[in-house]
Amino acid sequence: MPLLSDTLARVKPSPTVAVTQLAAELKAAGKDVIGLGAGEPDFDTPENIKAAAIAAIHAGKTKYTAPDGIIELKQAICAKFARENGLTYQPAQITISTGGKQVLYNAFMATLNPGDEVIIPAPYWVSYPDMVLLGQGTPVFIEGSPELGYKITPEQLDAAITPKTKWFLFNSPSNPTGAGYTRDELKALTDVLMRHPHVWVMTDDMYEHLAYDGFEFCTPAQVEPGLYERTLTCNGVSKAYAMTGWRIGYAGGPKVLIDAMRKIQSQSTNNPCSISQWAAVEALNGPQDFLAPNAEMFKRRRDLVVSALDAIEGIDCPVPEGAFYVYPSIAGLLGRTSAGGTLIDTDEAFAKALLEETGVAVVFGAAFGLSPNFRISYATSDAALTEACKRITAFCAGLT
Ligand code: GLU
Repeated sequence: MPLLSDTLARVKPSPTVAVTQLAAELKAAGKDVIGLGAGEPDFDTPENIKAAAIAAIHAGKTKYTAPDGIIELKQAICAKFARENGLTYQPAQITISTGGKQVLYNAFMATLNPGDEVIIPAPYWVSYPDMVLLGQGTPVFIEGSPELGYKITPEQLDAAITPKTKWFLFNSPSNPTGAGYTRDELKALTDVLMRHPHVWVMTDDMYEHLAYDGFEFCTPAQVEPGLYERTLTCNGVSKAYAMTGWRIGYAGGPKVLIDAMRKIQSQSTNNPCSISQWAAVEALNGPQDFLAPNAEMFKRRRDLVVSALDAIEGIDCPVPEGAFYVYPSIAGLLGRTSAGGTLIDTDEAFAKALLEETGVAVVFGAAFGLSPNFRISYATSDAALTEACKRITAFCAGLT
C-alpha cells in the first residue's frame, strides 16, 4: 500500500514559499541575492504591538484559548469591521486562525463536497486552487485580461457559474497583480451574484490598507448587503501591521459557517497562538496612524519599480491600485536567449535564469495561473529595489 495519499498527489508545494526559502538559502550560502519573492512588509512590527505581546507573556496568557480565539480579539475584530467596512458582526460570527491561510483552508474543508466548484479569478494567489483541491473541490478559473489590469468582467463571472458552484473567491487588491476593483466594478460583480442565490462569496481582504492614489477599498458584503448572509469576509493583521510571522487571520460570516470552521480547527491546530492574539488586539484597537505613511512609502516603491520595468523593451507593467506586487508581462521577450545561454521560452525559464545570472529572486507567472508574467514583491528597501531593477534591465538587455 503506498504511503502517500491521493489527495497529496493533487497538490503542489507553495511556489511563493519555495522561492522565499530558496532566496534565503542562497543568501545564507553567501550569494548576492535580492529577494523579491516574499510577499511580506520589510518593516518591523510596531513597538506598541510587541509590547502588548510581551505583557501577555508576563501576565501568563500562555495557555490554550477558545479554539477560534479570545473574546477580546473577537470584539476588536467586530469593532474593526464596523469602523472600516460598515459591516455588523457579533463575536459569535467571528473566527480567528493561524494566519489568513488557515481561515480559507478551514472554510473549504468545512463546506466542500467532491465535485463542488470554486470560481477563482486568474491570476490568483498560489494557494487558492490547492486548498480547494485538498478539500476535494474543483477550482474553476476565469482569466482576467491584461487590458483590464487582469480584472474579470461580470459577463465572465456569470458564464462561469453552474449549479455546482459553491464559492466565488474574491481578492482585491490582488495578490499577484495588485489590481483593485472600484466600488462600481465590484457592484457589477455582486449584481451577478445576487442572481445566483446558491453561490457563496469568500473574500481575501488582506491588502485592504495597501491602496494608492486615493483608491477606495471595498468588500462584497459592504457593497451589496444582500450578500451578507452568504459571505465570509476574510482578513488578517499580517500585511497592514507587519505581523506575518505572528500568524493571525480572521473572518466574519454566518454563525453556521463559523461554527463549522471552529469544528475543523478544534480537530487540527486548536487555538491560534495566545500571545499573537493579544498582540492582534493591540494592533486593531491601538493607534492606526502609521498605516497611511506606510501606504505612501509602498506607493513610492511601486512607482519606482513600475517606471523602471516599463522602460525595458519587451516588458509591459500595468500600474496596480494596491498591495505590494507588480505583475509585468514578458510576452515581448519570449524566444530570446539569455547571456548565460538559457532559452526564455516560459516565465519559469525567465525567473530561473534571472536568479542564476543576476541573483534577483522573483516568482514566475505560471504559479499564479496566468503567463507569461512574473511577480515582484516591492516590500523591500528602495536601495534593494533600485539595484534589482538595474540587474533586471541589464539581464533583459543581454537577451539575444
Ligand atoms: N502571501 C504571501 C505571498 O504571496 C505569503 C507567502 C505565502 O504564504 O504564499 O508571498
